[in-house]
Amino acid sequence: MRNIYDLTLKELGEYFVSIGLKPFRAIQVYEWLYRKHVRSFDEMTNIKKELINKLKTDFELKLFEVVDHQKSVDGTEKFLFRLSDGNLIESVLMRHYYGTSICVTSQVGCNMGCAFCASGMKKKLRNLTTGEMVLQLESVYESIKEKISHIVVMGIGEPFDNYDNVINFLKVVNEPHGLEIGARHISISTCGLVPKIYDYAKENLQSNLAISLHAPNQEIRNLIMPVNQAYPLNELVKAIEDYIKMTNRRVTIEYILLDGINDTLKCANELADLLHGLNVYINLIPYNEVKEKPFKRSTKENMRKFYDQLKKRSMNVTLRLEQGHDIDAACGQLRSKHMNK
Ligand code: SF4
Repeated sequence: MRNIYDLTLKELGEYFVSIGLKPFRAIQVYEWLYRKHVRSFDEMTNIKKELINKLKTDFELKLFEVVDHQKSVDGTEKFLFRLSDGNLIESVLMRHYYGTSICVTSQVGCNMGCAFCASGMKKKLRNLTTGEMVLQLESVYESIKEKISHIVVMGIGEPFDNYDNVINFLKVVNEPHGLEIGARHISISTCGLVPKIYDYAKENLQSNLAISLHAPNQEIRNLIMPVNQAYPLNELVKAIEDYIKMTNRRVTIEYILLDGINDTLKCANELADLLHGLNVYINLIPYNEVKEKPFKRSTKENMRKFYDQLKKRSMNVTLRLEQGHDIDAACGQLRSKHMNK
């Protein structure tokens, strides 16, 4: 049985045509699912009983089981969900002055092996389906009953290693008859799968691209991000440059500050040299320490100096306010804790 949340509006329309009905039925169903957030087909009151029965035989409509739910004093909430096959995934809700965002997981585990990351400690078991990404939004919505305005695909997994499902997910959440989350309010983050950056540029979407860079040079990147062996820094920076040219869009650079590793003034200058002249926005992120990892968070003083140096070098930069520091904040930490039990 298919998950109803897997289908784009077009695909659902094709389904209705395949059973001899008009494609506009898809709009009706989409509105029930994503505008009224119904949790069973029986609640779709403008649809005839026979069709409801047909939908029940062909599709599953079921939210995730919530295994754990942590709330931070700053409004951040972390959810641990159980998938239908028993696997666990995390989603994080963050509240900002401009709205509410969800950090969506794209894979069960991750194979990219970034040295500082809790998610990467558990290898990838499988990709999430489109529906399982959509269900993270609906399952969080069920708990908070607030409009979700922004999405970052930055949770467990490498989104571009699950490319097709992630692109379909963008189509579902962006659909005007559905959740209608503006593409400009959606960001996808990659650790640097270069060929997929070009594919994403060609999709001609308005959604954003973020690059988890975390290093200003080849040596440090090799040390903390194995993906750099396959796609070295010079190729990645070239891809960023080409992406900007192709899409005319600004790219966000994510940079986690690790004490004594990538947070020196020399690193700040190297980073400024590397990205000089590119339409990028650098997000400096305090590290959420993971007990199994040797890395430490940069001191406040060093983070400030790093930020000031980039500012001095006329870079667009922000030192991101950390969120959820009083809960299992590092991505993958909550899942890992439950799996180790
Ligand atoms: S940082 Fe992202 S890409 Fe790297 S191991 Fe963790 S989840 Fe995977």
